[in-house]
Amino acid sequence: MKKLLLLGLLTISLTLTAQTDQRIYDIIDAVSAERIENDVTKLANFGTRHTLSDTVSRTRGIGAARRWIKSEFEKTSQACNGCLNVFYQKDLVKKGANQRIVHDVEVVNVLAIQKGTKYPNRYIIMSGDIDSRVSDPTNFTDDSPGANDNASGMAGTLEAARVLSKYTFENSIIYMGLSGEEQGLFGGGGVAQYAKDQGWEIIGIFNNDMIGNIKGVDGIVSNTDFRIFSEPVPPNETEEQRRARRFYGGEVDGISRQLARYVHKTVKTYMPEMNPMMIYRLDRFGRGGHHRPFNDAGFAGIRIMEAHENYTQQHQDIRVDDGIAYGDVLEHVNFEYAAKLTAVNAINLASLAWAPPAPKEVKIGGIVEPSAKFQWSKVDGAKGYKIYWRDTTSPTWDNSRYVGDVTEFTLEGIVIDNYFFGVSAVGANGFESPVVFPNGIFR
Ligand SMILES: [Zn+2]
Repeated sequence: MKKLLLLGLLTISLTLTAQTDQRIYDIIDAVSAERIENDVTKLANFGTRHTLSDTVSRTRGIGAARRWIKSEFEKTSQACNGCLNVFYQKDLVKKGANQRIVHDVEVVNVLAIQKGTKYPNRYIIMSGDIDSRVSDPTNFTDDSPGANDNASGMAGTLEAARVLSKYTFENSIIYMGLSGEEQGLFGGGGVAQYAKDQGWEIIGIFNNDMIGNIKGVDGIVSNTDFRIFSEPVPPNETEEQRRARRFYGGEVDGISRQLARYVHKTVKTYMPEMNPMMIYRLDRFGRGGHHRPFNDAGFAGIRIMEAHENYTQQHQDIRVDDGIAYGDVLEHVNFEYAAKLTAVNAINLASLAWAPPAPKEVKIGGIVEPSAKFQWSKVDGAKGYKIYWRDTTSPTWDNSRYVGDVTEFTLEGIVIDNYFFGVSAVGANGFESPVVFPNGIFR
């Protein structure tokens, strides 16, 4: 009896330790608000980083800014024996491509790739933006510090690279500065196309756009709330997939939504002091961000950002009007908060980069039967699999069962009609892939 109890306790403690990993806590602790402050300050001091601004000056304009970003990634790489491959990805955008492109311009992005040891062609991406703007989106000469929009996301990305380059991962991580965001999401479009051309398998992108403001125009001040935007289903799904949804579900279970749930769960596990708000939409109402071109290309992608925006401090000429100080200037950025959201990114980059791929095929059965049944394709490198299910009205995967190294399973007594289901792959290190919503049916 005593022996049995002991064994029981041992099993419980083993299971518990497998659920968290000390390295994730170390990553959270390693993110520095001070370094983020230095980087946001440096970026804001380039005067303007407008996509169409000066590229020759060494102190002002987007050219100086991107050269500095590249040199920072290179410094990080030197500190890890060249673990980052740093390069520019660029596309020429012709005058008149839209109304905001008033002269020909090279849209130049900076990429830093940390190659994975086991799945080098699989990439998880963190991005921030290099460019900034003022009231008139074509004004490329006036001061446009873009401290929060989006030096904060760029600085967070530089910092995540510094922290994570101390580790090795099974999948590749890309730290990325994008340009042309304010002119029409050109940089993201360029990299998404580049990824397709290279045949990269994209696990997902975390687009960080404004991660430093804690005082909202709504009067709320919060240094724990933040938002995770994700679209419900991919825009490039087939007519057949769209039709199937009507009968088999999946309206709120696209790949970007699963990525959002993944981030939500990791934060709830490791940073319980934070309040991640999953927002069930592509982006803010009628507005855009750099995850969208990746979504358009069929890749999973989400936007991570502050919860309470202040519109007097974004896309504004620096001025005082009616006693209100307008402008996206340094003093509105809360660097401790930006560090927290950087940690949110870093722990999710690490978790996904340490995880095996998700099963490609997941089939579900059990129509007019008492139990739901599953079959899935084997994943190279997985120790086992987890079946998840939730009430159809729940946003989160509330129930799960680890089923070991099998490729089919029956959830006895769980009726298919009453829940939504998914399957993830689990690595020997305990890290998990995103959940895959069933993409096939069997009898
Ligand atoms: Zn903006």
